[in-house]
Amino acid sequence: AKSAGRQRIVFFQAQMQAEIEERLAIQHQLELAIAQRQLALYLQPQVDAAGMALGAELLLRWQHPVLGPVPPGRFIPIAEESSLILRLGNWVLQEGCRTLVQLAKAGRPLPLSINVSPQQFHEADFVAQVKAALQDSGARADYLILELTEGLLIRNLDDTSAKMRELAALGLRFSIDDFGTGYSSLAYLKRLPLQELKIDRSFVQDAEASRDTAIIELILSMAEHLALRVVAEGVESEAQAAFLRTHGCHAMQGYLFARPMPLADWLALPAG
Ligand code: C2E
Ligand code: CA
Ligand code: CA
Ligand code: CA
Repeated sequence: AKSAGRQRIVFFQAQMQAEIEERLAIQHQLELAIAQRQLALYLQPQVDAAGMALGAELLLRWQHPVLGPVPPGRFIPIAEESSLILRLGNWVLQEGCRTLVQLAKAGRPLPLSINVSPQQFHEADFVAQVKAALQDSGARADYLILELTEGLLIRNLDDTSAKMRELAALGLRFSIDDFGTGYSSLAYLKRLPLQELKIDRSFVQDAEASRDTAIIELILSMAEHLALRVVAEGVESEAQAAFLRTHGCHAMQGYLFARPMPLADWLALPAG
């Protein structure tokens, strides 16, 4: 029994070692990825009850020459452990602004939502970075929506509130991502200049289950009182979409309508 235990320890050590090595490899490869143009932003449309696109979320894609596509769920958390996320985040900001301009030039202007990570937002020069990205590209600030998570918002409420007001004065809008999955403090909803809530996929997925139905109804009615727009994410079935439409959800995003796609694919779709 004693040797079996020792074997298990050795096994766990080997597994930990492998995980650390994978982490280091991803970190190293990610540093090259920006310079070597392996990254792209895909668009996933957000549609109204009639199926018209109101905007799109930009989602990061990494195509590694050897590893193939690496999903953001695997590399974002690793990037967030170091200052890599700052460079990555700044690239997303600049590329997002360039995408806004490309859409406008193609005669297909569309508001775009960008994911902002907590470290990036709480950097001292975050507002300056946003301004620079807008100026360098010539993008319209009022077409840019920043998706922030609940954890980010409450981490330093004074800093958050000051930065959001400064950016809102430029015309930017804000959305709370994965709403309902983070901290339950609702105080920030009235203290911060927010325009939108995104109902997390986990609630939408089980919209048939009675508890989740109640949660969605609650979020929608609360949003109405606070004059906030609501986007439901991860809509995969017609039944989910029907439920959301009936309850007055403003916009829906999910595989039922479209998967995230490259800008060229979006532009190849018929307009309107
Ligand atoms: P998120 O912000 O909650 O993004 C929504 C995720 O749900 C995306 O996964 C999207 O592809 C996926 N999705 C959309 N519709 C459906 C659906 O109908 N069913 C299912 N099962 N999934 C759907 P993705 O692209 O893998 O991104 C995962 C997470 O990585 C994002 O979650 C976000 O937290 C992070 N992320 C992605 N791009 C960026 C970025 O540019 N910057 C930062 N900081 N984080 C990013
Ligand atoms: Ca998001
Ligand atoms: Ca989300
Ligand atoms: Ca989510």
